Amino acid sequence: MDSETNKKQKELDSRYLRMAIIWSENSYCIRRKVGALIVKDKMIISDGYNGTPSGFENICEDQNNKTKPYVLHAEANAITKIARSNNSSNGATLYVTAAPCIECAKLIIQSGIKRIVYSESYRLDDGIELLDRAGIEVVFLDHEQY
Ligand SMILES: [Zn+2]
Repeated sequence: MDSETNKKQKELDSRYLRMAIIWSENSYCIRRKVGALIVKDKMIISDGYNGTPSGFENICEDQNNKTKPYVLHAEANAITKIARSNNSSNGATLYVTAAPCIECAKLIIQSGIKRIVYSESYRLDDGIELLDRAGIEVVFLDHEQY
């Protein structure tokens, strides 16, 4: 990539990441709000935020303020939304406001997503490591960069 193309890609990446941050505001989870967008051929083909499955109560935390085990992560919601549509995530880019965990990394690999852009680091980086191993391009954008 020449530097001009590189610069344009970086601008697009930061804009989509900002949109994912805005999207995370939809989450009714209290402890943590995460947003994700899936972009293919410059079109947003899916979106997601962390939350309980469709039809469940919109409460992520139990009485002890622990996240319920059936809360779906933003990436999982965005990927499974595509499964319900006529679209395909093959070759797409995933924008997510936090580093994917290992469970989401598995879904990302299997969904054919080729590139991910994220901002916040996670306490564990085994998800990122797995994505690296699968040959997925992983881009970290620091807060000052978008
Ligand atoms: Zn996850």
